[in-house]
Amino acid sequence: MVSLGLEDKVIIVTGGARGIGAAIVKLLVEFGAKVASIDVIDGETPPGGLALKADVTKLDSMESAAKEIGEKLGTVYGVVANAGITRDNFFTKLTDEDWDQVIAVNLKGVKNTIQPFIQGMYDQNAGSIVAISSISGDRGNAGQTNYASTKAAVIGMMKSIAREGARFNVRANAIAPGFINTEMTQKIPDKVRDKITAEIPFRRFGEPEDIAWAVAFLLSPVASSYVTGEVLRVNGAHHT
Ligand code: NDP
Repeated sequence: MVSLGLEDKVIIVTGGARGIGAAIVKLLVEFGAKVASIDVIDGETPPGGLALKADVTKLDSMESAAKEIGEKLGTVYGVVANAGITRDNFFTKLTDEDWDQVIAVNLKGVKNTIQPFIQGMYDQNAGSIVAISSISGDRGNAGQTNYASTKAAVIGMMKSIAREGARFNVRANAIAPGFINTEMTQKIPDKVRDKITAEIPFRRFGEPEDIAWAVAFLLSPVASSYVTGEVLRVNGAHHT
């Protein structure tokens, strides 16, 4: 019998209450991890883990969460920076507020998610960080200049952390999902959805579980121990 080596590993997942984050939490629990699910909304407590309310835009909020996780679950091995928002509009109509809010959650929020945990990972000489980027960061998307900017930026952040973390055996990778069926994509009008679906060689959106399996692979010290600074696209061949 083989294992991903995630048993009893402490792993935090932001935006874990619903959508892709909830699927990640569920799968990691099945692999035996002790999962801390962090969100601004109420979420289910993962068996053997914790559900915490914290806001990734605020470093002190994430530091408080980190303290509680350390006390209750132990030193963190894995960080999944998944929380993200959209505030879509064409660039000509994009407000400063929508620019700032998306940067705060999707970019600074990823930084705030990782920073409170990384020294502990360095100290134990083991860790894996996964940030959820997007197809929009990879190929751009009309109406998403703010969102795509943040999703491209987190790839640069992961590649840089990968270089800094290598000597501490800490890896950092990004996943760029294509269009996935969650509340986020339910906002897409039917006409636009049909157009996007026609462009996807698989002719369908992906499911949150498709991303969860990619996360499990990148977290695993067994399956991906030599993979770092990478971007894993999970998009049904929906390339540029
Ligand atoms: P959802 O909107 O379904 O879930 C995101 C969760 O993150 C929500 O519970 C949300 O709470 C929470 N969240 C928002 N802001 C914060 C915050 N400041 N602090 C903590 N938690 C917060 O999104 P998805 O599951 O669809 O997306 C998950 C990730 O995957 C995001 O980073 C997204 O950009 C990315 N992605 C999604 C794709 C898709 O097609 N769905 C495609 C490519 C990437 P609230 O309800 O209050 O906002």
